[in-house]
Amino acid sequence: MAARLNHSIQNTLSLLNPLCSVTTKATHSRNRLPFRRSFVLSSAYSKSRRALFCSCATSGGTADLQSDGGEAAAREAFVLTTPLYYVNAAPHMGSAYTTIAADAIARFQRLLGKKVILVTGTDEHGEKIATAAAACGESPNEHCDIVSQQYKSLWKDLDISYGKFIRTTDPKHEAIVKEFYARVLANGDIYHADYEGLYCVNCEEYKDEKELLENKCCPVHLKPCIQRKEENYFFALSKYQKKLEETLSSNPNFVQPSYRLNEVQSWIKSGLKDFSISRASVEWGIPVPNDKRQTIYVWFDALLGYAEENGQTSLQEAVSSGWPAALHLIGKDILRFHAVYWPAMLMSAGLDLPKMVFGHGFLTKDGMKMGKSLGNTLEPNELVQKFGSDAVRYFFLREVEFGNDGDYSEDRFINIVNAHLANTIGNLNCKYCHRICTTR
Ligand SMILES: [Zn+2]
Repeated sequence: MAARLNHSIQNTLSLLNPLCSVTTKATHSRNRLPFRRSFVLSSAYSKSRRALFCSCATSGGTADLQSDGGEAAAREAFVLTTPLYYVNAAPHMGSAYTTIAADAIARFQRLLGKKVILVTGTDEHGEKIATAAAACGESPNEHCDIVSQQYKSLWKDLDISYGKFIRTTDPKHEAIVKEFYARVLANGDIYHADYEGLYCVNCEEYKDEKELLENKCCPVHLKPCIQRKEENYFFALSKYQKKLEETLSSNPNFVQPSYRLNEVQSWIKSGLKDFSISRASVEWGIPVPNDKRQTIYVWFDALLGYAEENGQTSLQEAVSSGWPAALHLIGKDILRFHAVYWPAMLMSAGLDLPKMVFGHGFLTKDGMKMGKSLGNTLEPNELVQKFGSDAVRYFFLREVEFGNDGDYSEDRFINIVNAHLANTIGNLNCKYCHRICTTR
């Protein structure tokens, strides 16, 4: 099975762990094999099975922090994170894909004998969440509890062995955000100003007019941005332009794959503008410490979730036990927040930067962009209920060249799973078991 893993993820794993050279040149056959369509549905291998080598995948929770014992505690932890997923809607396949990939990397690092902490969770503040809750007739709190639980259930069904599930509505998180804000303020990097501009409610950010499409539409959401004017607090991002440029040129591994590094470098080169880190019109958020009429911008709030993987109640405590993270694994749409805003915020607060930000591509279905309006979304819950977690995990890790966009089609899925998991591995397993039974 190992030899059949897509060489791209092997290369990535090797990159993430320079001490381990993965030299296997796996062949990545894309030939379709003629198995019956129904085979996969009746196969015993469609049932979910945990990998035997994973010592801490029993319950999610904090098992992997505790089960290793004293010796492991002495080792430096390999901390990796998924994004904290926005709870405006139920989990989609893109979120599941990032988390499956993060879990595969976490398992690989554990095989190398490392203490691993996989941090995942949900981002629960902001206007879009308040609106989504109201549309369902729920309070924002009720809505966040429901959707956050949907993520936890899906991670369980997909056999994700996370170490910590962060929720940004947790009072411990709020305390850490306020402490971080105070540090940045003390460093002279927060100021008050009027702001008027075009705002995308779905991105929850002001947009630069030159990056918008026709009719002032957001390039991500394809919906018109609205003119908005308010008093905000700003973060002095422009002050960090030179430092960011130097960081990226001296450490090109900070953003991976390399073509995303080029993208980030060109954004920075085009000139960084200060950005607004508070909202006067949004009630559902953490109040700005020195001005209760405003709430902290949802990204400024959520990014701090990465620094609190052990459930600490102070920033200092959080930083002294596991920060900085070795890897932030994200989708390419949130690269700017992680590779530009976040490192500048950390520099301002006097904290170390994570070692790497890896931006993977998007998933398409039958060669087309997925979307509710197109009616072609891929529901991860349905997929895992129908085929089992091993099949879902295997397909996406093997078929999507890690870092690039990748496509799902049901025919391809069934062919791959039949050919590799059911036929090759399944037959090998049967022959092996048969031999053991008959030689006793
Ligand atoms: Zn948008």
